[in-house]
Parts: sequence; C-alpha cells; structure tokens
Amino acid sequence: MLNPFKEPLEPSFSLAERLAGLTSVSACYQCKKCSSGCPLTFAMDFPPDQVIRLALLGQDAAVLGCRTIWVCSGCETCTTRCPNQIDIAGVMDWLKEEAIFSGQASPQPGVTRFHQTFLDTVLMAGGRLSEPLLLGLYQWRRGGTLEKLKSGALMADLRMAWELARRRRLVPRLPHRLKGVEEIKAMFKKSHFYEKNEKPGTQEKP
Ligand code: SF4
Ligand code: SF4
Repeated sequence: MLNPFKEPLEPSFSLAERLAGLTSVSACYQCKKCSSGCPLTFAMDFPPDQVIRLALLGQDAAVLGCRTIWVCSGCETCTTRCPNQIDIAGVMDWLKEEAIFSGQASPQPGVTRFHQTFLDTVLMAGGRLSEPLLLGLYQWRRGGTLEKLKSGALMADLRMAWELARRRRLVPRLPHRLKGVEEIKAMFKKSHFYEKNEKPGTQEKP
C-alpha cells in the first residue's frame, strides 16, 4: 500500500472536495479526540484523525486503500467525541463505498465481502437484517463450501448456529418486511454501488 509519509505527495482533490461538500470535515483541527476514543486503532494502519487528514490532503490512494476504513465497526464513539460534530463514522462508511466504486483492491477482502453481503442482505430482506440469509450468502460467496463439508467444518458451523438459535442469539427466520420498503430500495439505488449494478453483489472482489 502507498505510504503517504514516505512517498512524494501527489494530491488529487476530487475526493476531498466531494467529502467536504457532504460533511463538515474541513473543520477538523486534528485534536485526535476521535482516535483516542476509538476501540479499534490497534488493528488500523492509520488512526481515524489521520484518515480525515489524508482525505483532506487529497491522498485518495492511501485513504481508499487503507485497512482503517474496513476495520471501522461504525460504533460512532469518534463521532460523539468530536468537538466539531464531524460524523467520522459516516465518513468511514462513505469511504468504504468510494473504495468499492473506484475498484480499489481491499487490504481486508474478507471484511469487504462481509460488508457487501450485509448490505445485499438488508436489501433482499426488505430493509432488515436477516441473520440466516447473511450467514448463508456470506458462506457461499467466500467459497470453499465443499472443502468445509468434507473437513467437517461446515457441520461445526451448523452446530454453532443451532446453539446460537437455541439461546436466542440467532433468529432462524426471515424478518417481517417493513412498510417503507420502497423508500429503502430508493436509498440503495441512490448509492454509487447499487446505482451502477442492477443486481447486488456484482462488484464483489475476491
Ligand atoms: S475529534 Fe474531530 S476535530 Fe478532533 S481530530 Fe477527530 S475529526 Fe478532527
Ligand atoms: S466508528 Fe469506527 S473510527 Fe469511529 S470509534 Fe468506532 S471503530 Fe473507531
């Protein structure tokens, strides 16, 4: 991955301009309150404040190719701590979508696939998360189902799913459809990813 701290800076401000048009991100004064509260910095390559800074400096390749945007769980701790009310969690989500849309290879392909499968599942289930659909579709997309069947790992997964369902940690049925399902579909359609692809998941990367 490009290291913006070692390699010459070649800014491309299109991403920075679009981001600044969507959020108050340019108000960031690098106080690092977001990063000091983030529970996942140990797994990130750049802390959240640096992602914001790199985005503002037009370092598209570094930002869209970093692990941080995929490691972010969207817990919103950073957003609630920011003294400038910058929606950092929202920025991370937006950057995920930008990375997929721009065809940027993900340094966390498993997480990227899970993210896309999660969104596809919400769309397919009419606006709500369906855990059985998510688990089944994710297993299918990550491949290796036959190998897992042969090795017994699939049975172990199914036993765990059964145990989770028994303890009411997994709901083994499709959720009720929401009344505003058409609005939800319209929201998905507005996003880059679903705008470009009529069928969900067609831009998935290995
Ligand atoms: S908390 Fe807000 S102002 Fe401070 S570094 Fe993070 S984004 Fe910037
Ligand atoms: S939303 Fe993401 S970046 Fe913000 S604190 Fe949570 S994990 Fe960290």
